[in-house]
Parts: sequence; C-alpha cells; structure tokens
Amino acid sequence: MKKYNFNAGPSMLPREVIENTAKQILDFNGSGLSLMEISHRAKDFQPVVDEAEALIKELLDVPEGYAVIFLGGGASLQFTQVPANFLINKAAYLNTGTWANKAEKEAKLYGEVVEVASSKDANYTFVPKGFDVPADADYLHITTNNTIYGTEIRKDLDVPVPLIADMSSDIMSRPVDVSKYDVIYAGAQKNMSMAGVTVIILKTDKLGKAPRQLPTMLNYLTHVEKGSMFNTPPVVPIYSLLETMRWVKKNGGVEAMDKLAKQRAEIVYGEIDRNKLFKGTVAEEDRSLMNICFVMNEEYAELEKPFLEFATERGMVGVKGHRSVGGFRASCYNAQTIEGVNALVAAMKEFEAKH
Ligand SMILES: *Cc1c(COP(=O)(O)O)cnc(C)c1O
Repeated sequence: MKKYNFNAGPSMLPREVIENTAKQILDFNGSGLSLMEISHRAKDFQPVVDEAEALIKELLDVPEGYAVIFLGGGASLQFTQVPANFLINKAAYLNTGTWANKAEKEAKLYGEVVEVASSKDANYTFVPKGFDVPADADYLHITTNNTIYGTEIRKDLDVPVPLIADMSSDIMSRPVDVSKYDVIYAGAQKNMSMAGVTVIILKTDKLGKAPRQLPTMLNYLTHVEKGSMFNTPPVVPIYSLLETMRWVKKNGGVEAMDKLAKQRAEIVYGEIDRNKLFKGTVAEEDRSLMNICFVMNEEYAELEKPFLEFATERGMVGVKGHRSVGGFRASCYNAQTIEGVNALVAAMKEFEAKH
C-alpha cells in the first residue's frame, strides 16, 4: 500500500533526493568508494559543500556579508551556541512553544534574558503580538514555526533589534528577508535533509565580539574560517541536503514552495473546519502551514483512536499528535504532495460518513 508520510521530523523527503543519495552511498561519483567511506577533505567532496552553500544563498537570496555553515549538534546545540556568541548585555526571547522555551532556558546560562511575551499559559495556542522589545537587547530570538503546537510566524518581523531565528521547521518554505536576521539556524531533518546536519546562516561582522572565552567548537568563527571543515562535518546529511536544494531549485524555488504550502494547508484546514468530527487547536491567524494540528470535537472524543487506526489502514503515517497537544498533527513540509493531503482529507471524509 502507498504510504503518505506526515511525520513531524525526521520527515518526508522528495523520492529523488533519497534515490540520488542512495546511489552516491553505493558509489560516490564513480570512484568505487561509498560516500560513507570517503574523506570529507577528498577533492570530490569540497564541491558538494560549495554547491550546497551556494544553493542556500541563491534560494534564500542571502545578501553579502553572511556565511552559511554546516554543523552537527542539531538545532538544540544552537540554543546554547547562539547566546554563547551573541549575548553581550541582554537578550530578548519570544516564548511560543517547547523549542522556544528550551532556547530561552539555555540563554539564561549566559546572562540576562528578557522574555518579551509568552503564550505558555494558553498551551501555546497562539503567537503573542504587540510586545515591546528592549531597544538595548543584543537580539530578539524567535522560533518561526512551532513544530509541536502548530503555530507559525510566517513573516519577517519588524523589531528595533536584530532577529535570531530558529527556522528548523519552515526554512525553505517561503522567501525570507535574510537582511533582518543576524542568525538563522535550522536542524535539517524537517525540511532540508536527513538528521545530522544543522544549517546556520550568519552575519559575519557580528562575530568575535562575545565577552567570554568560548570553547573552540562553540565559536562560530572557528567554523566560518574553516568553511565547516574544522572537524569532520556530517558528510552524508550534507550530501542529501545538496540534493534537496537542487530539488527545491528545480521545482521553482522558495516562491513555488510557498505557493504549494498554502495550497496544501488550505486543503487540510478547509476539511478540519468543514468536518463535524474535527477542530483545529490554534488561533486561525497563527495556523502553521507546516504542522497542521487538530483534535476530535468534544462530542466525538472517543473516536480519536479509531480515526488513527482508520487513517493508518489507508496509508497515513505519523498523523498522531504530539503528547503535549494530543489528537493529530499532519506535517506538510516541502516534500508533501497534494496527493498526500488529498488522501488524508479523503480519509477524514470517509470517517465522517461512517459516524
Ligand atoms: C525539531 C526542532 C528542534 C530540535 O532539533 P534537533 O535538531 O533535534 O536539536 C528545534 N527547533 C525546532 C523549531 C524544531 O522543529
């Protein structure tokens, strides 16, 4: 049976990305060696890093003065690395979900943190707006897409300080005005690659100003100066990242990804709102286009498990909601197809007809 992958992360990738990466794992560039057994300093591998970097810059229209680096440690290491490098006087954080909260917690290890707003008391069902950002903050940290709760800041905020954004789960899904950000980081396993690599886009003139001694590996300068080759980078994840970036470009770039994201979301949210069994979990204006969360209406609460089983029998994978929200979550990253969301909607309609 055909499977429709709605996993939240690691998540669906384009089939051709997986196939092309598999080929290189068997025989890298006709060398007779696997991508898994070559040196990251092999002359054939440098072009992979260079092209991946160039494509990210091209696709996101990254201005001069920014570097793109590839590190290990996941987005979670960035929760530490960002304040270690950039918190000088104080940092501002917007608390919109589990990941945002974790980032804020790590920053407190390095100095003063101002929480500009939080929706925690409302179980993160909306994104706070109209908050003040102290003009003397070094940066405002935001999480553009709240993967667990299904809310999203799908625009580049205007604030009086530089932005630093965790874009792990919506990077490459829309055009971004990179010039508003000092740092954009993303664990690749949601929208760009397999797990193992984190992409960091950072403004280089802000580096080297931390008022503290940094361990070599935590210092962004180390990795910028060595072009992500200070130590062994995650070779296979970088390769599959390159394949995904080629795929994004071939399919119309981030404008086309944005359009497709809107189409998919309209189909799924449209059905959630129409179907008597289901309802959305977050404020309509903050609905994520990437992670679509919904639950059973109260009067049908007992149908939650039966619907999951019903959907699973029809090939849906990964639609069970995160334990902090319950219900269901349909993750619709770039690789998700209209066919996939139509299959989910068909299952929702059929299930409604039976009840
Ligand atoms: C998944 C996710 C993370 C955690 O990423 P790791 O690579 O597992 O550390 C952080 N932030 C957001 C928004 C995420 O979706």
